[in-house]
Amino acid sequence: MEEYDAIVIGAGNGGITASAAMAQKGLNVLLLERHNIPGGCATSFCRGRFEFEVALHQLSGMGTVEKPGPLRMMLASLGVLDDLEFVEMSELYSIMMPDGFKLSLKPDKEEVIKELQDRFPHEKQAIEKFFDLSYKYANDMLSTFIFKDPAPSREKYPTMYEYAFKPASEVLDSLISDPLLKAVLSVYWGYVGLPPNRLAFPYLAMIFFTYIEFKPFHIKGGSQALSNVIINKFISHGGTVRFNCGAKEIKIENGKVKGVVTDDGEFIPARFVVSNASQVSTYVQLIDPQHVPGQVSREMRGRSLSSSAFSMFVGFDCEPDELGITEPTTFLLDNIDFGDRVINQMKKLDIDDQLLVLSCYDVSDPEFSPPGTCQANIVTLKYGEPWLSIPPAQYNKTKFRCAEAMLRRVEAIYPGVRGHIEEIEVATPLTHMRYLGHPNGSIYGFEQYTKDSMFFQPGRYSPIEGLYFASGWAGDCGFHPTLQAGLSAAKSIVRKLETE
Ligand SMILES: Cc1cc2nc3c(=O)[nH]c(=O)nc-3n(C[C@H](O)[C@H](O)[C@H](O)COP(=O)(O)OP(=O)(O)OC[C@H]3O[C@@H](n4cnc5c(N)ncnc54)[C@H](O)[C@@H]3O)c2cc1C
Repeated sequence: MEEYDAIVIGAGNGGITASAAMAQKGLNVLLLERHNIPGGCATSFCRGRFEFEVALHQLSGMGTVEKPGPLRMMLASLGVLDDLEFVEMSELYSIMMPDGFKLSLKPDKEEVIKELQDRFPHEKQAIEKFFDLSYKYANDMLSTFIFKDPAPSREKYPTMYEYAFKPASEVLDSLISDPLLKAVLSVYWGYVGLPPNRLAFPYLAMIFFTYIEFKPFHIKGGSQALSNVIINKFISHGGTVRFNCGAKEIKIENGKVKGVVTDDGEFIPARFVVSNASQVSTYVQLIDPQHVPGQVSREMRGRSLSSSAFSMFVGFDCEPDELGITEPTTFLLDNIDFGDRVINQMKKLDIDDQLLVLSCYDVSDPEFSPPGTCQANIVTLKYGEPWLSIPPAQYNKTKFRCAEAMLRRVEAIYPGVRGHIEEIEVATPLTHMRYLGHPNGSIYGFEQYTKDSMFFQPGRYSPIEGLYFASGWAGDCGFHPTLQAGLSAAKSIVRKLETE
């Protein structure tokens, strides 16, 4: 029986990066993935002549060759940067409303401010103040957490200390009066899962800062290309990966990891385990309750599961401009009330006037879909609970009813799209639950309420010796944060071995 230095459970972003980074340092690593392909959310699937991107709308943290961002540097350190091609998106985002309102923002601070000031001249100063504040906040965060100031203080970083725990809506309300402008500036909440009245301001500030400073990107070949390249690097370093092979149990003895039992009942010994599975399933399903420290259970009970998503993947028999789609990322807005009403809608099955995001990768990368075609990925956030109680016989009917409602919303903005549909596929919270293995199909880990925001995340460590986490459940969600989480977990393990 082969003994590994580390077993990684799950081949999502965090899992593959942790595996590749440990194998790069010479560790003997086994990666177990229950699905038949690597990537978790970072995957694609085929229908007809289309290969549909599952998750990635906009990659953050890349930066350009001239001004590399943290993700570009990280991919270079993993040795995979040159195997990938990135496409810079020309727009930060667009907003379209059925009444004809349309606004597009470029990923450039001055241009964003100018465009918004032209559209909302009565809020000229407020717009300037909002971006200044967001940038000040982001710079304080970078000095403290990235450049690791050893003695951060309220005097040195007054913006961070003042705004770290304020909801985004409180900050917007304090600066801006126009409700439409507030909505325009807060649509990125859809990338974090909580509307602005519940979302900590730091997320909104950091999203603007990172997408503007490091530009939004897409990957040639989609996120599956990224996952494949990292897995190949892992294998080239001598790593072993088993697909269609889930982990059923993490064996613990005397508070220490001993190895993993696979779904087939095979015990594989290892000194370290990195879990890319949710913390809930890791502690509740994979570890015998007698070994789960009380503090962990108490901590998890205080958190709530984030929403899942309802997504529609559409392949069209024409180019995007024939459909009127001229921007890569468009938020479709029917209602600008982003208060508790939004949460109530997310808790319902049916799709009403809630925020939708439509990505059409072909706008920035005309080779993304087969010649003469294009695809759109339309997503809205929905909690998993209502879907769990649908009787199996009702599932398809419900799914198609919701898809029809979503399509009607899209048609209201882009009339005539229906006539160009060649392929269509729909994913519900149950789909996400099945292929990710996350409770309720949550796609953003634990909900990042102000009290659970980036300052209070459980992180990669566990009180169980030898157990580490690398996923959106142990820190922030998103491609860059989860890839980074994998690298950080690997570094912690390598450091531990080096200091012994
Ligand atoms: C619809 C959608 C749109 C998104 N858009 C963006 C975007 O535009 N930009 C952005 O930055 N982020 C986006 N995200 C978020 C981003 O995709 C995720 O935060 C990130 O990919 C999660 O990575 P992860 O490492 O947490 O692993 P996950 O992707 O959650 O994968 C976990 C893996 O673990 C495996 N697993 C679980 N349990 C077991 C077990 N017991 N044994 C073996 N394997 C197991 C699963 O099969 C899965 O492969 C989006 C996500 C979704 C779903």
